[in-house]
Amino acid sequence: MTVKRTKKEYWNKLEMTPWEKVYHIEIFKGLWLTFSIAAKNLWRFATGRKGALTVYYPEEVRKDYAPAFRGRHYLTKTELGRPKCITCMMCKNICPAVAISIESMASQEGDTYSPKTPKSFDIDLSRCIFCGFCVEICPKDAIHMDSKVFKLPSNKRSELILNKEQLLEYPHE
Ligand code: SF4
Ligand code: SF4
Repeated sequence: MTVKRTKKEYWNKLEMTPWEKVYHIEIFKGLWLTFSIAAKNLWRFATGRKGALTVYYPEEVRKDYAPAFRGRHYLTKTELGRPKCITCMMCKNICPAVAISIESMASQEGDTYSPKTPKSFDIDLSRCIFCGFCVEICPKDAIHMDSKVFKLPSNKRSELILNKEQLLEYPHE
């Protein structure tokens, strides 16, 4: 018995224009872009200026990050200085890197903001992939990454785990 094979159709099958099908032109366009940037950077280097895109880390640090750049996390506070976090666990559950651990406890008596507050709130930066999902999903705007702290490397893994107190302290470089 012979099995008839049919060509698999993909839902996102690419439709190329005749111009794109002549792919040599696109290859030359890509090569031209690469070599023109390389030549520009080499000229800057040869004339004593730095290459356009090179930062000599850690001696130099980039300062021209976009405002939306995702840096070190921090937890925001209410006007009374308590964490805005209500321990709903949404950030913990959505985190694809399993980098967040939260322990919840009852708020102080008379606290009208939320019945629950974080007892502990840890983020393991050695696991974090800086996707920003935790920030996006938070219903209370309780976690941010716009700290403008970009220098995060450490020789000790333990230093990469930020606890609640560190996260509540607005970080400055
Ligand atoms: S930025 Fe992404 S990986 Fe990092 S803690 Fe938030 S959700 Fe997890
Ligand atoms: S999603 Fe926001 S409110 Fe919920 S646990 Fe995370 S930081 Fe707290």
